[in-house]
Amino acid sequence: MLPKIIKKDDLRAFVEALLAENVVVAPTKKGIKYAFAEVDSFDEVALDYNITMLSPRKYFYPQNETVLKFKLGEKPSAEAVVESAPKIIFGMHPCDVAATWLLDVVFAEDPADPNYLSKRKKAVIIGMNCAKPCDEFSFCKDMKSYNATAGFDLMLTDLGDKYFVEVGTEAGEALLVAGAQASEASADDLKALQEWQNGKEKSFVNRIPYDTKFLPEILGASDDSLVWEAIARKCLSCGSCNTTCPTCYCFTVRDEVASNLVDGERKRIWDSCQLDEFAEVAGGENFRKARSARLRHRFNRKGKWLLERYGKSGCVGCGRCDRNCLVKISSVEVYTQLAGERAK
Ligand code: SF4
Ligand code: SF4
Repeated sequence: MLPKIIKKDDLRAFVEALLAENVVVAPTKKGIKYAFAEVDSFDEVALDYNITMLSPRKYFYPQNETVLKFKLGEKPSAEAVVESAPKIIFGMHPCDVAATWLLDVVFAEDPADPNYLSKRKKAVIIGMNCAKPCDEFSFCKDMKSYNATAGFDLMLTDLGDKYFVEVGTEAGEALLVAGAQASEASADDLKALQEWQNGKEKSFVNRIPYDTKFLPEILGASDDSLVWEAIARKCLSCGSCNTTCPTCYCFTVRDEVASNLVDGERKRIWDSCQLDEFAEVAGGENFRKARSARLRHRFNRKGKWLLERYGKSGCVGCGRCDRNCLVKISSVEVYTQLAGERAK
């Protein structure tokens, strides 16, 4: 689909047209940080945000979701709960688009997950390209997710007095036709985009000192690495790295029964592979009791296993895990040290 142009001054009218007909979620300012939240007006949208505390994953895969309602007693019964509502997610950066694209593949795998997919299918993603890294924690260039190639309906790039709009889907194009003063991108606009992209290439730097295509092999050869023991001495097993990660999708299941001892709900709740009891099974055995084993598991999942299984990296380099780690465990340092060990 041909790219379009929206004049800078016309973005407000476009977003207001979206708001008139849809629930719109966008980055908003929360104190000194940013969070995706439902907005009622264009003025609430923080167009210049760097990174949100959580990705929009929470709209497709809520932190605490009822998946089943049941009744106990003389006539026991159970009914699946699948809730979804249309939404526009506005302003998603390329790394979060890449993370959502991975989740789309994971949750569509047999047996497909109706709770995630029903929400995701009703969502339209309008991305916002970023010209510079969020901060010193970003390593999205290393993880090749700093440019969005797919997974969005529209992707906007700020070219100064106008937005260059890549159209990813017919749903995105329909929104443009209905609500935006959009024109066809000219040859000059394409040239301006290329110049913008050239500038972007210079402002994003690699932080891992090798191509991350080698990560699966490096991780595969690092089972006995002392790096796991070293970071395990610092790690608090708090799970923040998982709960803030846009590509984590492990959950626990809890049944809650009402005080009448008849009505109940089954909930799925975000879990973290870094918690001590995550791998505990019946009988009290724990097959990843050691903190070092849990950290090794986490990094293998991010840098090796998901890539091998789905063809997409399990890490998009957003840096949320490192930014939120109280003891400053750094993914970049871990990957660097693991490769350094091989050279000794
Ligand atoms: S956020 Fe840091 S301290 Fe907490 S579990 Fe993750 S690596 Fe360990
Ligand atoms: S592992 Fe860390 S850097 Fe990678 S996607 Fe998750 S939060 Fe972002």
